[in-house]
Amino acid sequence: MKTIGLIGGMSWESTVTYYRVINEEIKKRLGGFHSGKILLYSVDFDEIEKCQMSGEWEKSGEILADAAKRLEKAGADFIVICTNTMHKVFGQVQAAVKIPVLHIAETTAEIMKKDKITKTGLLGTKFTMEQDFYKSVLAENGIEAVVPDEDGRKTVNDVIYNELCMGQIKESSKKQFLKIIEKLRDQGAQAVILGCTEIGLLVEQKDVDIPVYDTALIHAEVAAEKSLK
Ligand code: GLU
Repeated sequence: MKTIGLIGGMSWESTVTYYRVINEEIKKRLGGFHSGKILLYSVDFDEIEKCQMSGEWEKSGEILADAAKRLEKAGADFIVICTNTMHKVFGQVQAAVKIPVLHIAETTAEIMKKDKITKTGLLGTKFTMEQDFYKSVLAENGIEAVVPDEDGRKTVNDVIYNELCMGQIKESSKKQFLKIIEKLRDQGAQAVILGCTEIGLLVEQKDVDIPVYDTALIHAEVAAEKSLK
C-alpha cells in the first residue's frame, strides 16, 4: 500500500472528511482491520486565508510547497491538497516535489466525463467560481461550468468562510444553497460540482435532484484507490 500525503487544515473541518473517507474506502476494498497509510501536514488556515484575501498567492504557494516537501521527505508516495481553492497554486506545489500531486479538478472532471456531463453548475469560493484556474481544467475536459449570479456567488462564498470553515452548519444556508443549485439547473446544468471541500457538510446528493459531484469525497476516494495501485 502506498502512503498518502495530505496537505490539510484548509479548513480542518473538511480534512476530517478526507481522513474518514480514505479509511472507509480502504476498509471497503481490503476488509478486516485495514486502514490507510496517511501522513497529514495540517497548516494554520489563518495564514493561508490572510494570503488569499491580500492576493499573496505566491506566499501561500510557498507554504504549501514547504508542506509538500516535508511530506515527501517523510515518505509520502503522492500528495493530496485538501482544498479546491488552493489548487490555484497547484503548479508551485507540484514543482517543489518529485512525487505526483493529485489534482482535485482533474480527478473530478475524469469521473464526470465518464458520466457524459458536458455542462455543470460549480459552487465554491469566489476564487474558484470567478477565476480561471479551476474552470479551465474542466473546460480542457470538455465540461462547461456555470456559476451563480453575483448575489449567489456572494452567498456561497460568505457561507463557506463565515460558517462552514467555522464548523457551523445552518438549515437556512442549506435552503439558500438548494435554491442556487435549482437556478443553475434551470440554466441547463446537468449536474453540480461541490467545488469547495466543506460544502458536502451542508448539501448532499439526497437533497438535490441532479447529480452532485462532491470534490472532497471524490478526491479522497480516488486517493484511496491510487494508494492500492
Ligand atoms: N476548502 C475550501 C475549498 O475547497 C475553501 C477554503 C480555502 O480557501 O482553502 O476551496
